[in-house]
Amino acid sequence: MEVKKFISRSCPVCGENPPSQAEISSEQKAESLGFDVLTQHWNGFFKEKIIFSYARCGNCGLLYCPTFFHADQLTQLYSQMPPNMVEVPQQALRDTQYGYFKFLKKCSPLTGGFIEIGPDIGLFTEHCVREGHFDEYWLFEPNREVKPVLENVVQGHKSHVIHEMTDFSSVPDGAATSAVIIHVMDHLLDPVATLSELRKKLTDDATLMIVTHDESSLLRRIVGWRWPAFCLQHPQIYNFKSTRALLESAGFDILEQHKTVNFFKLSFLLKHAFWAFGFKVKSVPDFGGFTLGLKLGNILTIATPNKQQK
Ligand SMILES: [Zn+2]
Repeated sequence: MEVKKFISRSCPVCGENPPSQAEISSEQKAESLGFDVLTQHWNGFFKEKIIFSYARCGNCGLLYCPTFFHADQLTQLYSQMPPNMVEVPQQALRDTQYGYFKFLKKCSPLTGGFIEIGPDIGLFTEHCVREGHFDEYWLFEPNREVKPVLENVVQGHKSHVIHEMTDFSSVPDGAATSAVIIHVMDHLLDPVATLSELRKKLTDDATLMIVTHDESSLLRRIVGWRWPAFCLQHPQIYNFKSTRALLESAGFDILEQHKTVNFFKLSFLLKHAFWAFGFKVKSVPDFGGFTLGLKLGNILTIATPNKQQK
């Protein structure tokens, strides 16, 4: 009997069988290669780009990989990864995260319990600590290396840094008034199950804020399969409509959706623009560290637990 290298899955949002045709593929397809070869491609920004093919669900419109790594392979791959986005200077990241924070501030009293999934070094969390009045923090972060940094961000507050992404059993049911998930939903193999679990931990009128890449954005249409969010770490990528389908199937009502502004150093953008068009440039001028804000293809969604669906 043939041993299956990877998983085959139906739509992770609505369960519809996979479509027969792929919409996005790299020249060399990940599904035709072995796990060992793909491990070498997992971390590299500037090596040949290889991805699993993405197909669009005929029912809910989600763009996802019908063939993908299985959970054990993902655990192995994530455990050997360097920290995120080392090339983006912190001030640009802070500005981006503060932009997200302003949306949460508008919708939430910033009191009670706070959950963040994937806070990394706490660039979003620090705004909650500084401007909010939360009395307890649960931070779910799989990267053990950032634990001391995160603990420092919430120092002096009742807090828990938990090495986990999908098991929220350490939070009492109904304990959190706000939950924030920035660039995590694209990584999860079963996003509906994760959100449904999270919902149990929220108060009835809680605010859920998620930020995801937007596969319907102009940038993605221009660069096609070379768009950076099409990568080995993203088993699915959302647009406005499929984000809505995801949240509704997990028992949430959408309150607002926005395109968001990301801040980048011009040199960083140029380097990635060259890369996106296939030029492997090592360095570009710094332009005095010039930073600009662009609506580059992210969706921010605010949702609340659906009252009918307990
Ligand atoms: Zn679907």
